[in-house]
Amino acid sequence: MEQKKPTMNELRESFLKFFEEKGHLALDSFSLVPKDDKSLLLINSGMAPLKPYFTGARIPPRKRVTTCQKCIRTLDIDNVGKTSRHATFFEMLGNFSFGDYFKKEIIPWAWEYMTQVLGLPKDRLYATIYEDDDEAFEIWATMTDIGEDRIFRLGKKDNFWEIGVGPCGPCSEIHYDYGNAGVLTTREEFEAASEADKTVEVWNLVFTQFDRDEEGNYTPLANPNIDTGMGLERLATIMQGVRSIFETDAIRAIMTRAEELTGVSYGTDAKSDVSLRIITDHIKSAAMLISDGVLPSNEGRGYILRRLLRRAARHGRVLGRQEAFLAQMLDAVAENYGQPYPAIVEKLEYIKKIVSLEEEKFNQTIDQGTLVLNDYIQQTEGDVFSGDYAFKLYDTFGFPLELTEEIVAERGLKLDYDKFHANMKNQKETARAARGQSNFMGQDANTINTLKTGTTFEFTGYEEESSKGSLLLLAGEDGEVETLEQGESGYVILDRSPFYAEMGGQVGDLGEIRGENFTLNVLDTKKNLFGETVNLVEVTDGTAVTGPVVSTIAKPYRDAIRKNHTATHLLHKALKQVLGDHVNQSGSLVDSHRLRFDFNHFTPMTREEIRNVEDLVMEMILKASTVRTDVMTLDEAREAGAMALFDAKYGEAVRVVSAGQDSKELCGGTHVANTGEIGLFKIISETGIASGIRRIEAVTGLNALHFVRNQEDVLEEAAQIMKTNPHELVRRARQLTAELKDKDREIADIKKTMASGSLQDILNNISEVNGIKVVTGVVDNMSGEDLRNLAEKALDKIVSGVSVMASRQEDKVSFCVMVSKDLAGKTAHAGKLIGQIAQVADGKGGGRPDMAQAGGKSPEKAQEAVNKIFELL
Ligand code: ATP
Ligand code: MG
Repeated sequence: MEQKKPTMNELRESFLKFFEEKGHLALDSFSLVPKDDKSLLLINSGMAPLKPYFTGARIPPRKRVTTCQKCIRTLDIDNVGKTSRHATFFEMLGNFSFGDYFKKEIIPWAWEYMTQVLGLPKDRLYATIYEDDDEAFEIWATMTDIGEDRIFRLGKKDNFWEIGVGPCGPCSEIHYDYGNAGVLTTREEFEAASEADKTVEVWNLVFTQFDRDEEGNYTPLANPNIDTGMGLERLATIMQGVRSIFETDAIRAIMTRAEELTGVSYGTDAKSDVSLRIITDHIKSAAMLISDGVLPSNEGRGYILRRLLRRAARHGRVLGRQEAFLAQMLDAVAENYGQPYPAIVEKLEYIKKIVSLEEEKFNQTIDQGTLVLNDYIQQTEGDVFSGDYAFKLYDTFGFPLELTEEIVAERGLKLDYDKFHANMKNQKETARAARGQSNFMGQDANTINTLKTGTTFEFTGYEEESSKGSLLLLAGEDGEVETLEQGESGYVILDRSPFYAEMGGQVGDLGEIRGENFTLNVLDTKKNLFGETVNLVEVTDGTAVTGPVVSTIAKPYRDAIRKNHTATHLLHKALKQVLGDHVNQSGSLVDSHRLRFDFNHFTPMTREEIRNVEDLVMEMILKASTVRTDVMTLDEAREAGAMALFDAKYGEAVRVVSAGQDSKELCGGTHVANTGEIGLFKIISETGIASGIRRIEAVTGLNALHFVRNQEDVLEEAAQIMKTNPHELVRRARQLTAELKDKDREIADIKKTMASGSLQDILNNISEVNGIKVVTGVVDNMSGEDLRNLAEKALDKIVSGVSVMASRQEDKVSFCVMVSKDLAGKTAHAGKLIGQIAQVADGKGGGRPDMAQAGGKSPEKAQEAVNKIFELL
């Protein structure tokens, strides 16, 4: 008979109802963000948010509780999409006993729920127990009708639950056979079937019955607890007769949306299925995290969210979807999860916004990086992906290491982590080294200055990206060598190549040199003292020898440099126009991230001047002028009006780079063909670096766009924090500052009133013991000095007697005792009294006969301590 299959919503309700009928209180799912629990980044089980009830730190609303708890397990992230049973976000159905019922109740209930309520066939179910737990075996065997041969005893790894010291205990799991596991008779067979995904763990019943101490002793708990967890998705998989959690109703519906948006159908290809599942899972997790208040960031929970979104975005690309699409998946999440979690629907627009922002930001980063990475992968021969490449990607393109890791793993490559980390370390050291010290990639700068071939180098890089040439010389750290082996680093000199050597502020090129039987990765290019172009290389494959080679520059890297270099010329020109003709370049640095331009000028630039310069440069860019280079004599260049560095030493023939009619400058660097390619120019800082020398840093192209977007994000975030929108931000900030000022004033007033109020009361709080007048008082948050003044005032009022005052702080209390001169040291001794008073509040102290001060650790005992005086006198 064909039965209607229960939906995930129905199953959730059925479970909660079953346990409500067994006397449990059903609570809503707690937030994914743990409360007052620093040991966890995100809630990962039904038990996690209930910890205070188990430890006794808080009293539970009832001794029996049942929940369906939202969980995130990032540890399972690598399994997602690959196994049929793991998700990063899932819901855990659970029932809990806080020192109430135990094994005798839960085992039969669990069996009743599975076989009678859900009607699962008994010959598809197995139970596992901890090998020494005879009690559990007895209960399974006698109080349920599971066959004894379907109970397996497993070891500590599977069936004992403990984390370090504290409450722990054995557990018992219920497993389901999808139908083709055969008859499992031994523990080994059972474990093999589980391993092979023929059976699946559905429900884990944990019997918390021991307390483990540091020495590893297990002491039985007086009131043992029950904590169970059943994955709703896994239960739905079984009940709906499908083979994977991704085919259950709610999750399949979300995956359908992923199919629509990527144009890839599920079930056509094993690899694209994994991507579809990952997208489906991660967008659901992201939506849940955002609805619980998590925002993308670079650490903690925010980083988990960022990673999930970025991974989902990337798998969209794996399926051929280049444009942002994740936000469009969220309606499907809301439709399918809105009933149990209405916040998803209420915050839908907000969630979409966050997801789009993050995805766009990420797309820009990977567009650039993926190109380069693919290129590197193509260059990789063998199964190890160079750590230098990974570092370049990370360092130059901001490409996340996890992504490199994952993409190269997909291509069957192993990443050379050691090399990556060596680069990271190296970079830190290089950054620390003083600027200006010629430091060749952190290596000995002298080596390259000993290398000489005596041939003239032909630089082909103005016209070509790839050129044929000859490798003339190889060197290691100690000088010239015959060969360089795979994995070794060293230096090479070619007679001809497109590699630009660091010069005129432009950094050296990266790329690749291929010989007949070897490949070199070019990590940097420099000119040595003899003016020869030297490449710093690493042999990625084969054995490098002299002879014919083909060399190719890393194009995206060079393209970014070109933009920045041409922009530097335009900036130079614009500065002369805005600030005056006195402006001359005194230094510059052009790399793929940004440009830096140092020039002489005496005062900091005003905001308006900076904007004017930006406008002028943008005008030159928007004109989309052709950039030409002409070779001429120095005199011809001067005549043509080219700008030249006054202290530059140029050879006979010089290169003049002109950007339309706007800029004409002597330069040996590489440039864009048309100013329009620069796209966008934005100054990011203007500072003074020496007297009369200013420095401008600016970004171009996509880097400029990223900069602007980052600013936008900061505004957005600030606005969100202030619960307004960016346009209203300034008004809101003013309003808040004004409010704060008012509040400060109010607080000061209240403090004053309170102080005088209590002062009055205290001064009147006079008693008499054995003929001695005593005045006592307890106040809050009073400084030591104020407390002494108060004690003195009180003493003044009674003229002769003892004054005892205490001031409570958050986690301590201070006392002051004063005795009038006529009694001090005779009838009463302040120093001795205070010692006994402070003791009551877990403190000590002493002092002079007429005045003493002391502290204690228990502010809640302040009054009791003060009252001690009556006993003492
Ligand atoms: P597995 O070995 O299959 O990863 P587990 O031993 O980690 O499971 P428990 O920690 O006992 O699982 O969690 C209790 C229940 O929660 C499991 O029986 C299962 O139904 C469900 N569950 C655990 N991890 C996941 C996950 N990543 N995705 C979906 N459900 C899960
Ligand atoms: Mg697990």
